[in-house]
Amino acid sequence: MIYLDSNATTQPAPEVVAALLPFLQEDWQNPSSAYLSARRVRDALAQARHSLARLLNAQPSEITFTSGGTESINAVHASVRALRPQLPRLVISGTEHPAVLESAQRWQQSGGEVTRVRVTRDGRVDLDHLRHCVQPGLTALVSLMWANNETGVIHPLAEITEIAHAAGAQVHTDAVQAAGKIPLDVHAVPVDFLSLSGHKFHAPKGIGALYISRKTRFSPLILGGGQEGGRRSGTENVPYIVGLGVAAESMRQSLTDGTADRVRQMRDHFEESLLSADPSIQRNGDPLHRLPTTSSLTFPGLEASEMLILLDKAGLCCSAGSACHSASVHPSHVLEAMGHDARHAASTLRFSFSRLNTHEETQTAAGLITQAAAKLRELAADSTGPVTHG
Ligand code: PLP
Repeated sequence: MIYLDSNATTQPAPEVVAALLPFLQEDWQNPSSAYLSARRVRDALAQARHSLARLLNAQPSEITFTSGGTESINAVHASVRALRPQLPRLVISGTEHPAVLESAQRWQQSGGEVTRVRVTRDGRVDLDHLRHCVQPGLTALVSLMWANNETGVIHPLAEITEIAHAAGAQVHTDAVQAAGKIPLDVHAVPVDFLSLSGHKFHAPKGIGALYISRKTRFSPLILGGGQEGGRRSGTENVPYIVGLGVAAESMRQSLTDGTADRVRQMRDHFEESLLSADPSIQRNGDPLHRLPTTSSLTFPGLEASEMLILLDKAGLCCSAGSACHSASVHPSHVLEAMGHDARHAASTLRFSFSRLNTHEETQTAAGLITQAAAKLRELAADSTGPVTHG
């Protein structure tokens, strides 16, 4: 199997699995217990919090462990809505993940209003429109992703934060796809809240974190025993938190030891191989502001769903730019918000890479994709050719 779907989820890294297992087998005590043997568990939690803080250039006390990206996002929206009821507006974009889009609906149902800032055809937030959307005295929160899961497009978060803060709005960023893949620094880009998820960077599924700036008030979504400094109650998922910490440390190192550059080169060579074989392929998203791990490609005239079947048979895992629900295919809301039509979306595939991929396998993948596209074009040509009666 060649796995090029790391934006969906990543393979847990061997060092992550090795680090978390002892916390299932030996050090399984409740971190809140008073006896000595629970101390090692508490220390491990503190160590993981420290690793997450280093990844973001934050303070450990600003990190809260959660069950993942979706919970972190919902918790921020609920908190801001509760604490700033006099400011009814939430600003999002049309390219957000469903976790933000659905949570925004609840904001609206609670009597708030939701404004969608435009994105350009390259998928980046239109900053002039954002200035217009964040009216002072009206806007409680701007919630925009740092990088997009379908296209990899990176938003200008520094400018977004400056514009939002100047209007008195707080800033939340869904950094689920960006964390560990590009440098994130909450000092340089002073967002109020940041959500991330472990399974997008080689930790297990069901564990994530929420950065809450120490300057920002927060009202918890989950109440109970007061764990996580009262910000997220419930006994901590220690093994997965340990895994998350180790994964964060590996990703932090990968940003400076050449690993992230190797992934970018792999992605670029993959795209070059495909484009040299078929120049009609179109790349989606701003070419200069894109995650090094993501390639969203449109194959004009081809059905992504048919490509997926052929590629799956050939042992290549990737995904379509449009989500398939039962029998009907919905066009990707991300490509739609960027101004592309349903036809374009239905011909789009997403390939996403990680440090666990090799150059050889990504080149093999490019060959398999070229073959699959050629086969489908051949079949299409046969079916539209002259009808013979025999
Ligand atoms: N935000 C983005 C951009 C994502 O890609 C995802 C996962 O697909 C999420 C949020 C949700 O994260 P989780 O799966 O940890 O709930």
